[in-house]
Amino acid sequence: MAQTAEAMLAGVKLFTAQKLKPIARDLDVQGRFPEELLGDMREAGLFGLYYPVECGGGGLDSVATHQALAELAKASAGVALTLHVHYMAVDVLLKFGTDGQKQKYLAKLLAGQHIAAFTISEGHAGSDAAAISASARPDGDGWILNGTKYFCTNGGLADLYMVAFKTNEQAGSKGISLFIVEKGAPGFSIGRCEEKMGCRSSVTTGLVFENCFVPGENLLGAVDEGFKLAMYGLTGGRLGMASMGLGIAEAALESAAEYANKRVAFGKPLTALFAVQEMLADMYVALESTRLVVNSTAALRDSGRDYSLETSVAKIHTARAAEEICYKAVQIFGGHGYMKQNPVERYARDARLMDIGVGASEVLKMVVGGAVARKYATKPTG
Ligand SMILES: Cc1cc2nc3c(=O)[nH]c(=O)nc-3n(C[C@H](O)[C@H](O)[C@H](O)COP(=O)(O)OP(=O)(O)OC[C@H]3O[C@@H](n4cnc5c(N)ncnc54)[C@H](O)[C@@H]3O)c2cc1C
Repeated sequence: MAQTAEAMLAGVKLFTAQKLKPIARDLDVQGRFPEELLGDMREAGLFGLYYPVECGGGGLDSVATHQALAELAKASAGVALTLHVHYMAVDVLLKFGTDGQKQKYLAKLLAGQHIAAFTISEGHAGSDAAAISASARPDGDGWILNGTKYFCTNGGLADLYMVAFKTNEQAGSKGISLFIVEKGAPGFSIGRCEEKMGCRSSVTTGLVFENCFVPGENLLGAVDEGFKLAMYGLTGGRLGMASMGLGIAEAALESAAEYANKRVAFGKPLTALFAVQEMLADMYVALESTRLVVNSTAALRDSGRDYSLETSVAKIHTARAAEEICYKAVQIFGGHGYMKQNPVERYARDARLMDIGVGASEVLKMVVGGAVARKYATKPTG
């Protein structure tokens, strides 16, 4: 029998408190994903939280799923990032995969027996995703893939790679297709492992394709329509990253408030100083408004309505709030906040990704600004 949402969230909290939080600092120092926790993560149902029970998922709604992701990010942003990218790939497979693809991959992905990656970025093409140059050309009953991808979250850890290739050089975003590439496919190898500033408990690598053959059934959706599929994955991904920002920010506020209560300066706890109270107030306002934005965007997703604008708003808001909260948390810790033995410097580094990943804030502002302009455009009269 499927567990209730409350039981699943309690399981996530227990896993986070007992298994993940105690080693989060070491993972950051070592810059590694905790493969030793994969069994516990599977048991907590983390790989399939949001997906239908009949497919093998946990059946949580989007609001509860993003609460769980925030809870994980509160302990270890990199582990949350690992799941967040896995979810983006699963979202696309569930929506656009053929029955055969779903039958082959879905159950294992939702159980966490397999982990997924989702990669568009290249060295010269990140925000401008249509400028990718890795290419796929038809060959008999399949495709030959060539090119190099950058910044693949879960590179080397994943078993299934959802990857974007150009199938029509001249057609920009209308000439991109998505393919499933399985780990170990001939001609496919893992490139450089990146040394990162934050989210260091996730792995980020390059992907190298040298005449890599994939069968025709590995094409996702229609030829040349991969950009649309990728945007679908990114829409959910923006909400995922917003919930990560919420978790990181909450961890920073909690640490700073606890510290400010204990730390004595001028004969009183820091919390007696108005300047510190003001920082805590600003942090709390930013945190709670972020929670509202994340929850309302997740609820909109649950309603089945278009939430692509709101997810960009949520990510822009969260990035700003998480950076402000983490910056102030370091300030409240003073010099101790600058030192690695206290967690707030890690939160500040982790939060920096919120402004960059799954669409830089400046790019999302272009999207939101355009939508606002259209909303208030003067309608022609008569
Ligand atoms: C830790 C990490 C994990 C990642 N994981 C993945 C992954 O799993 N899969 C994947 O495909 N990618 C991944 N990425 C890549 C990420 O999506 C890109 O870094 C991001 O989209 C920005 O692209 P870029 O780095 O090429 O920056 P660029 O596109 O070069 O942009 C640099 C800066 O220029 C500005 N800018 C760019 N375009 C505009 C514009 N139109 N308007 C205004 N300003 C603009 C922004 O300030 C931007 O930050 C990851 C990145 C990181 C850091």
